[in-house]
Amino acid sequence: MGKIPEDHPRYQSLVAREKLIAAGELVAGAGLIAHGRGEAFDYLLGEKTTGPAYSAINVAAELLCNARQPVISANGNSIALAGPAIAELAIAIPARVEVNLFHRSSARVSGLAALLREAGIEPLGERPDFHIPGLASERAKCSRAGIGDADVVLVPLEDGDRCQALVDLGKKVIAIDLNPLSRTARTAHVTIVDELTRCLPLLITAVNRKKPAGADFDNEKNLGKVMEQMRIVLKNMQTRTGEG
Ligand code: ATP
Ligand code: MG
Repeated sequence: MGKIPEDHPRYQSLVAREKLIAAGELVAGAGLIAHGRGEAFDYLLGEKTTGPAYSAINVAAELLCNARQPVISANGNSIALAGPAIAELAIAIPARVEVNLFHRSSARVSGLAALLREAGIEPLGERPDFHIPGLASERAKCSRAGIGDADVVLVPLEDGDRCQALVDLGKKVIAIDLNPLSRTARTAHVTIVDELTRCLPLLITAVNRKKPAGADFDNEKNLGKVMEQMRIVLKNMQTRTGEG
């Protein structure tokens, strides 16, 4: 990793970019573009965990802890950015982690599984034996012992089609996605609109606290609150630049 000065105003963002670049072929080219889309939305959130994100984190923690078979679906970006935190979350719940890729190749799955093993967990995903109905073949592959039989699936940085397919399969889906407008954000049952590496430690804390989050969570309303938060950030910015 190049030397990034810690006092650089975009330090966290630059570290994340370096991690993705250092992962090389394990992160798909399209994954780098997806990261850029996420960064743009994070600007609009003021690069902070918002109140609505905290609410979603608490509901997600409760769902994961009460699940019969909770599974964390991990892709190249999520493992390159947060492999150890994903492992820590899986141990805390406890849940299985499945390597599940949009741009699947057995070399990438094995390389990413090796990173999770280094982080202390034994992941699923290297020997797919289940197909998610409604998706083209490579994107549909997963493990019966993981996503196949799961009742609750956490999908950080998921694609909208696959999120919809998991919902159609009867899974309770929790998404982590910085874009409150994406199909994933709108399709999941619980969407945490926050940056992955920023919200995972908060999710781990919420899982360890095991405090009931309340049953009245409405994802659509919560996404509306996130958008309101973005309007406030933009308004404040406008006022500061003298255009308000
Ligand atoms: P969808 O398929 O759900 O409509 P999309 O096609 O716009 O969304 P994808 O490329 O499929 O986007 O998925 C990537 C998503 O992950 C984007 O919505 C992006 O905002 C989000 N994202 C990227 N990096 C991060 C990150 N570090 N933390 C949280 N979300 C992120
Ligand atoms: Mg997509």
